[in-house]
Amino acid sequence: MAFPQEWMDELLSKNEITEVVSSYVTLKPKGRKLWACCPLHGEKTPSFSVSPDKQLFYCFGCHAGGTVIQFIMDMEHLTFIEAVKLLAERAHMELPEEKNDKELIRLRAYRERLYAANKAAARFYCEQLLGPAGQSGRDYAQKRGLVKDIILRFGIGYAPEGWDNLMKHLESQGFSEKELLDAGLLVKNPNSGRVYDAYRNRLIYPGCWTTASPSISTPATRPSTTSGRTCTACFCRRAPSSLTSSWSRGIWT
Ligand SMILES: [Zn+2]
Repeated sequence: MAFPQEWMDELLSKNEITEVVSSYVTLKPKGRKLWACCPLHGEKTPSFSVSPDKQLFYCFGCHAGGTVIQFIMDMEHLTFIEAVKLLAERAHMELPEEKNDKELIRLRAYRERLYAANKAAARFYCEQLLGPAGQSGRDYAQKRGLVKDIILRFGIGYAPEGWDNLMKHLESQGFSEKELLDAGLLVKNPNSGRVYDAYRNRLIYPGCWTTASPSISTPATRPSTTSGRTCTACFCRRAPSSLTSSWSRGIWT
């Protein structure tokens, strides 16, 4: 998909690199550049720089660098087109050829399938916790002070023992193995090729609560950014810190 140069120029001018980068890390000015610890690789001293003059970033540690589009591609693990789309959304710009781009339409429809799979999984896990299979999960939840009201309010679930409970449930709803793998709900052993549930015998916290108030009626299992990043890892193995700190302080401690 080729974007008109004029449109790309507008996109870049409306996504000033220091503003975009600042939404991920705190930049500190030094010389003609701004610096931070690199958000793309682990480090303790800042080697990640942004040049407002050139509208470029560069990391002296991992050697990542480029325009704001490259930064979003690296940060959000997106393709070029997906990164452009995210930045267009951020700047409230319409994609010029979006309506006619069959590949984008196909990708968007597929992403919706992954969201739907995650939503169905959230419901399944929650039903498991409240149902006969969830006794050990409820016992554990009780030990941690998770009362039923909290479980319902936050859509907390339980992945029961077994390798294919979720797989069978979602495949019976019409989801394909590939969709469930891409959604991060199943994993594949690279050696044996065996496919199985990603989560077993553990409490499940839908990853939606990092940004929004949750609701069991509408489990927000979309990724926290509305960017269209790949819909994986929507479930956390531990209660998100924002949940423990703001919604139920003390409950998980
Ligand atoms: Zn780096």
